[in-house]
Amino acid sequence: MSLDEYRKKRNLRKTPEPFEAAKGERRSLPVFVVQRHDARRLHYDFRLERGGALASWAVPKGVPLEPGARALAVHVEDHPLDYATFAGEIPKGNYGAGTVEIWDSGTYELLEEKKDGGLTVRLHGKRLEGTWTLVPAHLSGDEKNWLILKKREDGTVSRGQAPHTYRPMLATLTEKLPKGEGWEFEPKWDGYRAVGSVHGGEAKLLSR
Ligand code: MN
Repeated sequence: MSLDEYRKKRNLRKTPEPFEAAKGERRSLPVFVVQRHDARRLHYDFRLERGGALASWAVPKGVPLEPGARALAVHVEDHPLDYATFAGEIPKGNYGAGTVEIWDSGTYELLEEKKDGGLTVRLHGKRLEGTWTLVPAHLSGDEKNWLILKKREDGTVSRGQAPHTYRPMLATLTEKLPKGEGWEFEPKWDGYRAVGSVHGGEAKLLSR
């Protein structure tokens, strides 16, 4: 992996982004990061540690969360490994000017690597937990235009099936409160419980 293209696009005196190639300790599992990049156009940068750098894709609509869902992932230049912890402001006039936030990070397992470059990974993040596949789909004839697909938990990718539907969680009548960590309690107010979702820029609120 080479960082030449990455360095060519940036001026190290004018941006706080990291420039050095990886050094230091090795971890047992490679890392991934998803950065929310509010630049000229809002997008999410999906990065996987590969060969001492971060293989990177820009995902305009965000990493798909519904099993069977897919999204465009534009393959971009490798980034330095230190970029996995970068968050901050890229000043105006610089490449990618705007705000970078870490949306999720963690480790991943490489489950499959295809001859054409396609990758299947199991992510272990705070938000992303599960299996995704990156496919060099050459959409619109452009080799940079990959797809990222969320696999079902059994590892298969559905074709044309409706996405999973969620139902509002209902209050449960009980005599005793459950014990242990991870519980929170609140009184049941009257009103509607609803599940909100956004698909293709359209928001939906669904009650019972
Ligand atoms: Mn970006």
